[in-house]
Amino acid sequence: FGAGGDYGEQEGYSEERISAQRVADHYSARSNQTLEERENSPIIHLKKLNNWIKSVLVQLYARPGDCVLDLACGKGGDLIKWDKAKVGYYVGVDIAEGSIKDCMTRYNGDSDQQRRKKFSFPARLICADCYETRLDEYLREDAPFDICSCQFAMHYSWSTEARARQALANISALLRPGGTFIGTMPDANVIIKRLRESEGMEFGNSVYCITFGEEYTEKKFPASRPFGIKYKFHLEDAVDCPEWVVPFHLFKLLAEEYDLELVLMKNFHEFVHDYVQRPEFADLMRRLGPLGDGRSGQSTLSQDEWEASYLYLAFVLRKRGPPPSQ
Ligand code: SAM
Repeated sequence: FGAGGDYGEQEGYSEERISAQRVADHYSARSNQTLEERENSPIIHLKKLNNWIKSVLVQLYARPGDCVLDLACGKGGDLIKWDKAKVGYYVGVDIAEGSIKDCMTRYNGDSDQQRRKKFSFPARLICADCYETRLDEYLREDAPFDICSCQFAMHYSWSTEARARQALANISALLRPGGTFIGTMPDANVIIKRLRESEGMEFGNSVYCITFGEEYTEKKFPASRPFGIKYKFHLEDAVDCPEWVVPFHLFKLLAEEYDLELVLMKNFHEFVHDYVQRPEFADLMRRLGPLGDGRSGQSTLSQDEWEASYLYLAFVLRKRGPPPSQ
């Protein structure tokens, strides 16, 4: 089912839906890169680090045979990770029609990037606004899911309380008791700290730039209005669209209302520090190469990319209740 067409052209649509469509248009317009373009990207090592973090999350929490719900799945960049985890079934949902088409191409194994064997699990791909639509009505026959993943996208739900609640209601309704919700999103504490340290309403470096509107000139964010705190995010060769601050303590509290309990939250720097030493993850890091080993001569993550990675955190939540008996 479609994401709802071109909101921007029509009267009567709320500002939030227009913003959601702007996000969708941005991601839809980003064409699939060739391997060569990808390797030449100014943030190639940051992309590899992000992939390493997502791989660690998948390896830590997915079990063979799991039924996976990938919210905001994008172009299916995580399909291989789920395949390696030997999951049994995959449903991917994204608002951007172009991304869902690319994801389908990748799943079918006929893109340039992917000359590999077909995936071993059946999949269903859906174009929908995950934060507006009641997904349980569409996924009744696919649920319950063992694991839900929302990578680099939860913050797009934070434009209004209603959207944030719909996102969490969807996840809670579709996960089985004891099921896991893993994700990554911007770390509001870091973003607000950086804004306060900066002289103007903008901060960043050679790979990213975050700009807040004039309504936040005082750099104060009252606890009474914790939704809809918008900024413009530019990440070189990747993102250029509106995003919303997600105060993590509030995310945790709201998630609890939907029976989702916090298991883990780590800023990316802490996450790398804690897991890179483990042999099973150190090997993948060596192969991907973002941090390098200091000997092989391969190029590594730049200081600016490392700073950009500090803007993010990883989280794990668990749906309350005992897992069904075997
Ligand atoms: N999860 C993928 C990954 O890690 O490679 C894609 C991440 S990309 C930074 C953010 C994704 O969120 C985009 O594919 C975008 O279309 C999707 N997205 C944003 N708002 C959404 C919404 N309301 N419903 C579904 N998907 C959404």
